[in-house]
Amino acid sequence: MAERSIPLIDHRHHSARPTVPAHAAVPDGLLADRRGRPLRDLRISVTDRCNFRCSYCMPKEVFDKQHRFLPHSELLSFEEITRLARLFTLHGVKKLRLTGGEPLLRKGLEQLIEQLAELRTPDGEPLDITLTTNASLLARKAAALQAAGLKRVTVSLDALDDAVFRRMNDVDFPVADVLAGIEAAVAVGLAPIKVNMVVKRGVNDQEIVPMARFFRDNFAGKVVLRFIEYMDVGITNGWRMDEVLPSAQVVERIHAVFPLRALDPTQIGETAERWGYVDNAAGEQREIGVISSVTNAFCGDCNRARLSTEGKLYLCLFASRGHDLRSLLRDAAGYTDAQIAAAIGLVWQGRDDRYSELRGSAAGEAAAAAKVEMSYIGG
Ligand code: SAM
Ligand code: SF4
Ligand code: SF4
Repeated sequence: MAERSIPLIDHRHHSARPTVPAHAAVPDGLLADRRGRPLRDLRISVTDRCNFRCSYCMPKEVFDKQHRFLPHSELLSFEEITRLARLFTLHGVKKLRLTGGEPLLRKGLEQLIEQLAELRTPDGEPLDITLTTNASLLARKAAALQAAGLKRVTVSLDALDDAVFRRMNDVDFPVADVLAGIEAAVAVGLAPIKVNMVVKRGVNDQEIVPMARFFRDNFAGKVVLRFIEYMDVGITNGWRMDEVLPSAQVVERIHAVFPLRALDPTQIGETAERWGYVDNAAGEQREIGVISSVTNAFCGDCNRARLSTEGKLYLCLFASRGHDLRSLLRDAAGYTDAQIAAAIGLVWQGRDDRYSELRGSAAGEAAAAAKVEMSYIGG
């Protein structure tokens, strides 16, 4: 089937400057949005560039030589990222995920991780720092990342079949190098490692069972495979519902070969539904996860915020407008930490986003017209 792509809307200019309240209340970690959801998880995009051109994320025809990525001066510096991350911890954030684009392309990323690893929650706990990567540079960098303070990694891999994978990443990148990255991450103790497979019906759904078999039988249970429904993030990927394979069918297909049983969720706000293999060949509990972002919305528990490469705060993966925190960081007025923290608090308190619940409704359709690209705000 021919791939479609749709021209990009440049969201980098659509943003609002957050209001800095006159009297900044001290954050107490009890912040809640309009639907009572706390703020726990901050995803930080460290670059909008990527060395892959996955058609569902950065189609080659759109992200081509003419595409203007952000110049370095527009990116948040490591100091700015660390300052914001610290302010977010005051509001209850406990988990940081570095993403992109491809985060391992950001020069000196280990230094940022070192700085973030020094942060503490108000209770004195270190943050859970993780990273999502296409693993193209992971074999080379795993040891340095772990030494810098990274706790875990999530690797994206959409197929074991080399031809299918090369076609999906669209830059002819081989599966073997991703597997070498996973091995290196296991070897330095960045486990449990999650491997995310985006399932696109008619493109890689024949890879579901081979992927399940491979990760069940290798890495001694240290790698957990998760299947993600192909989502309508951004507008450039030309998404269509008939290309989504519902997670229920993923589970059915695996269950027919390797019987599965439902496992309890481990934490509130967890995006993956967990399934364990009934017959654990090696005696250890092995499992898979499915993330049903399209067929079973989980907005009710969504405690995630996203910080774009240039410092805009997005309250939903499907948002069309960000809140420009960089403009506060770089303002000549020299806003204090208390003022910026209060501004972030106000933004979160106004949050009403729940795009996946509204998908298909009139309100959802209106929001869908101008969504931001995932490579810009990160997954
Ligand atoms: N480049 C890194 C990578 O691929 O892991 C990090 C950024 S990428 C945007 C983060 C995650 O988003 C990846 O696991 C990717 O597969 C997923 N993703 C991107 N576009 C998607 C889509 N349309 N539907 C579902 N997942 C998507
Ligand atoms: Fe790059 Fe990740 Fe997007 Fe693929 S999914 S194009 S690897 S940012
Ligand atoms: Fe969270 Fe938005 Fe996804 Fe709902 S659609 S789960 S609010 S990111």
